[in-house]
Amino acid sequence: MKSLGVFCGSHAGRGEIYRTAAAQFGREVARRGITIVYGGGNVGLMGVLADAALATGGRVVGVLPRFLMDREVGHAGLSELHLVDSMHERKAKMAELSDAFVALPGGLGTLEEIFEAWTWVVLGLQQKPCGLLTVGNYYDPLLAFLDRAVEEGFVSPGHRGLLKVANDPAVLLSKLASAGRPPLSPPAADESRL
Ligand code: AMP
Repeated sequence: MKSLGVFCGSHAGRGEIYRTAAAQFGREVARRGITIVYGGGNVGLMGVLADAALATGGRVVGVLPRFLMDREVGHAGLSELHLVDSMHERKAKMAELSDAFVALPGGLGTLEEIFEAWTWVVLGLQQKPCGLLTVGNYYDPLLAFLDRAVEEGFVSPGHRGLLKVANDPAVLLSKLASAGRPPLSPPAADESRL
């Protein structure tokens, strides 16, 4: 894994715990020599992540739509900043540049981005590992809901298992690095549904 797409909040959340976790994650990725690909903003956890990785000597690549340049405050100190014309272009560019994807705590944008990356794997459009860094109990209700979706037959256990989850950056990165490639053909029978 040479590069990691990281999705995280354009807000920092309530409580220092989220900033601390984003900084710790950024440092761990940088220490491993993995390039961070992220939204390019200097706000919220996005800014914290980028600053921490850069301060550790890491390479950080931003992909920012021009119309968000002001709202997300384009980060001026990045190794590379790609300015694109739309959200769709941003996601396509981030996907092209990343070998795996991780979501840290965040809001609607973060959820949308990691769910899209994950569903692309489910659909066989890409085979890049996806992960979720849990911080405090922020994602507990979401993980419980995903288990419920499996119980109710809307998500197969195999597809649920494609999302790697850990609360420790090193553990999560190891899980992503060792994640097996998902089968290219759809799983049999009731496993085949999204
Ligand atoms: P949020 O988690 O809502 O704070 O947003 C985190 C990042 O996701 C920010 O860079 C947003 O610009 C981005 N984002 C927001 N909405 C979307 C969306 N519909 N699709 C993709 N990215 C989004």
